[in-house]
Amino acid sequence: MAKKTAQAPSENFTDFTPYEMKKGEEYMSAEMLQHFKELLLSWKQELMEEVDRTMHHMQEDAANYADPSDRATQEEEFSLELRTRDRERKLIKKIDKTIDRIDKDDYGFCDQCGVEIGTRRLEARPTATLCIDCKTLAEIRERQTGI
Ligand SMILES: [Zn+2]
Repeated sequence: MAKKTAQAPSENFTDFTPYEMKKGEEYMSAEMLQHFKELLLSWKQELMEEVDRTMHHMQEDAANYADPSDRATQEEEFSLELRTRDRERKLIKKIDKTIDRIDKDDYGFCDQCGVEIGTRRLEARPTATLCIDCKTLAEIRERQTGI
């Protein structure tokens, strides 16, 4: 019955070639910005395909169950998939915002302290707006106030 389980959205994108900085190249050069823009666009594409797949899966499955207990299972599955889709949609929005910042040449520097976030960290998390130090601090604060 619960044959297919909802897949978590790709929280990060790995299908790219890491950027190699040329000698003397400036951080966030036009070329580098382009690299991240392409990375974000491919990631977005992948997420949108995932959303599509989830929708098709739900439409296909909706017709397949007549038994009420099967329907209960199906409803659980659907609510899980809806949550997944919701996360995907939020992530896509975040990606759009990030692309917007690239277009405005406002990308790659920490929102909090202004240092370079760094290409490797950005490749691991292209929507990052904080450097690793500020991010760690923010998480500690969140944990302290969150409980
Ligand atoms: Zn910072």
